[in-house]
Amino acid sequence: MSTSTHLSNIIDYNRKFVESKEYEAYRTSKFPDKKLVVITCMDTRLVELLPKAMNFKNGDVKVIKNAGAIISQPFGSVMRSVLVALYELNAEEVIVVGHYECGMASLNADHMIQKMIERGVSEEVMSTLENSGIRLSKWLRGFDNVTAAVEHTVDTIKKHPLLPPNVPVHGMVIDPDTGELDLVVEGYDK
Ligand SMILES: [Zn+2]
Repeated sequence: MSTSTHLSNIIDYNRKFVESKEYEAYRTSKFPDKKLVVITCMDTRLVELLPKAMNFKNGDVKVIKNAGAIISQPFGSVMRSVLVALYELNAEEVIVVGHYECGMASLNADHMIQKMIERGVSEEVMSTLENSGIRLSKWLRGFDNVTAAVEHTVDTIKKHPLLPPNVPVHGMVIDPDTGELDLVVEGYDK
């Protein structure tokens, strides 16, 4: 299926969606009713499963997704999104939700760099990047263990100098098949 077919299918569907007012079932505000911000993975299996398994519906939570539910930069866009949710959108707690069988757990940077070259990125570009201090093999690295990765992400958020004090930050790992959650970090002060 070509991209243009994808696009025209989406646009055709969208016209009907709007005409039949299907959006009415999803009307809500930008403020999360459950006052939660969730950081999770872009995995296709979680698109519908995660909200169903955690009882989230439209309007309940802010969701930030990337490959692996990772915060690789304390001053990158994921952490900025967390802070926006907490300061501007009335979120009060953070939950990091990694998942078993995550693609980032088996990501092989060298393999991906090889694919880039095969698909036409020149070796010259690669060496220019390396020479300007971008360590591709480090940047493209995943993690060995999802539980440890979730703990690390929770830790990065908790230690962030701009995090409002007393914000609970929790960590969980979800089964992408059954939706079962394992609690990794309980963020409430005891
Ligand atoms: Zn994943």
